[in-house]
Amino acid sequence: MAQSVQDGGQWPLSPPVKEYPLHWLTGQFHDPGKEAMYRRDSEPRIRAESCLTLSVAALIFGMFAISDYYYIGLSTELYLLLGMRALVVIACLALAFVIGQRGGYSRQTWLHALPLWILATGIILIIPLRPDSLSTQVTSLVVAIMAFYLLIPNLLPVVAIASLYLSVGFLVAAVMAADISAVVALRLLLLLVMANAVGFFALLRLEKLQRKQFALLQEERIQNHQLSEEIAHRKSLEKQLRMVAERDALTGLASRIHFMQRAQELLLQAQHDNTPFSLFMIDVDHFKAINDTWGHSQGDRVLTAIAKTCMQSLRAGDVIGRFGGEEFIVALPNTPLEEARRVAERLKKAVAELPVTEAMTEHRLTVTIGIAGELDAASDLPALIRQADQALYAGKHGGRNRVETSPAESRLP
Ligand code: GH3
Ligand code: MG
Ligand code: MG
Repeated sequence: MAQSVQDGGQWPLSPPVKEYPLHWLTGQFHDPGKEAMYRRDSEPRIRAESCLTLSVAALIFGMFAISDYYYIGLSTELYLLLGMRALVVIACLALAFVIGQRGGYSRQTWLHALPLWILATGIILIIPLRPDSLSTQVTSLVVAIMAFYLLIPNLLPVVAIASLYLSVGFLVAAVMAADISAVVALRLLLLLVMANAVGFFALLRLEKLQRKQFALLQEERIQNHQLSEEIAHRKSLEKQLRMVAERDALTGLASRIHFMQRAQELLLQAQHDNTPFSLFMIDVDHFKAINDTWGHSQGDRVLTAIAKTCMQSLRAGDVIGRFGGEEFIVALPNTPLEEARRVAERLKKAVAELPVTEAMTEHRLTVTIGIAGELDAASDLPALIRQADQALYAGKHGGRNRVETSPAESRLP
């Protein structure tokens, strides 16, 4: 169980996270590659958010036409206002659509900036057309500045410049068209500075937080990737180890230990199901002479060839292993003794027909096979192996190149 801090235990230390420095004024990564990666990564989110917020902003801007009507009634100014609002709404909706389809500010910063400039121009143009509604518009202006910074996704420098344009344009239009006093203009200026400062620092914080979060996520992804590579590597090592443990390095047959495990399982299954089970041992005749005459590596080639031939002659369910040296052992589930004899004869014949190399044309490759006697309820694997070994011994004494069957152990003297 995890130790708590109160218990005096220590929280496990997480590995140090790589630092990615951020620009103090823009909140962007200093590293251009990392910044580009961040922008690419956030593209889908930016598209969806831009599309939604721009559509909402455009519709709200359009809906202010109702207040235009109440303020100035049916007049030329109203038609001009309606025309201007319609243009802004259409342009923003069109841009929202384009950005939603393929906008990502990794490359097209200008595309994202465009709606801000259109909206800002629209807001500024309302002043000369509806100068007496300045106080209401100041409120909308502050809300618009906040929306620029916090709702419509854009890079901080892009928003700051667009918002500056909106603020200065609004102030100039107010001074020129609404005929405000110097004090009111100053108050308006202070309000705009405040709104911009709040928006700027809020977005700066957000930009930094999002990038830090991205860097952490990247780090986690890299670590996960390394972890999965490590797992894959360990699995492959495990597989190799299992191969080494289960397979004989020279012939590729089951190792003795692995054969014993598999044969034991097959034998128990056969006893449980009351089905026949046979076992025999193969020993290459005069193998020492092959080594002595043609060398050890030629002997190895012969062993490999015999192993391959035997494996190919057996059924998929049979198990063959290298028992040691030039001896092989075969377990045959679902095989009565008579059938096992036929299999052994077939193997003996296949080995005899093995095409030996030119160097060994003089030599007749033969094997002696000893088959364990009939399986009975008391038989266990060591007993069957003993029987097969005794049959093999008898076969060697009987002149080799033959298949010999041992009587069941219970009947042995
Ligand atoms: P028998 O007909 O009575 O079986 O005679 P044999 O020569 O086959 O039997 P013996 O037990 O006298 O010799 C077996 C030889 O097999 C001795 C050993 O050096 C050789 N041997 C064991 N393992 C390997 C191996 O992996 N490669 C090679 N090339 N030879 C091996
Ligand atoms: Mg031997
Ligand atoms: Mg031998």
